[in-house]
Amino acid sequence: MGIEEKLPAGIALTTVENLAGYMRKASIWPATFGLACCAIEMMAVGTPHYDLARFGMERFAATPRQADLMIVAGRVSNKMAPVVRQVYDQMANPKWVISMGVCASSGGMFNNYAIVQGVDHIIPVDIYLPGCPPRPEMLLNAIITLHEQIQSTPLGVNRVAAARAAEQAALGATPTELQPPTHDHEGLLGRNLLA
Ligand code: SF4
Repeated sequence: MGIEEKLPAGIALTTVENLAGYMRKASIWPATFGLACCAIEMMAVGTPHYDLARFGMERFAATPRQADLMIVAGRVSNKMAPVVRQVYDQMANPKWVISMGVCASSGGMFNNYAIVQGVDHIIPVDIYLPGCPPRPEMLLNAIITLHEQIQSTPLGVNRVAAARAAEQAALGATPTELQPPTHDHEGLLGRNLLA
């Protein structure tokens, strides 16, 4: 909690939001963290060709206490899941998560008992990045999208108002109408075969 929690809605809070958003997005430090083949692409964005240093992000922190971005690069095994959660819990607030690749986002082709079917089962995710593996350019695009999100994050009473508006919109949403089936679902046990 900081000064923004005390400010009334208005120009002072908007100014603090803009300033905090700019400073936060321009000072992200990722955690040194790679799980599988996607991590190779993540490492590539640190090379001179892709030059992550343009965003002040070349410093991958070896301690989660000095990191505020987790890039989940690769599939998460059930054995690794508690470790991922512990690293996330130890990171500094505010913190963000990019789920890199189909394996991290949904289990991907590893639809089996050993792999967590989406890292959002254990930690909140801000950006889902598709691909197998996503190219370094795609990771850069995800990082720039995250920067935009951070820059426009409301604070204090504005954050409370935004959360209330989102909740009201969710409560007022019309459920999807059930559509009649478009083809016969009787299958092998259908009436035609049993008759
Ligand atoms: S998405 Fe593809 S490259 Fe990334 S961890 Fe899974 S299998 Fe490896």
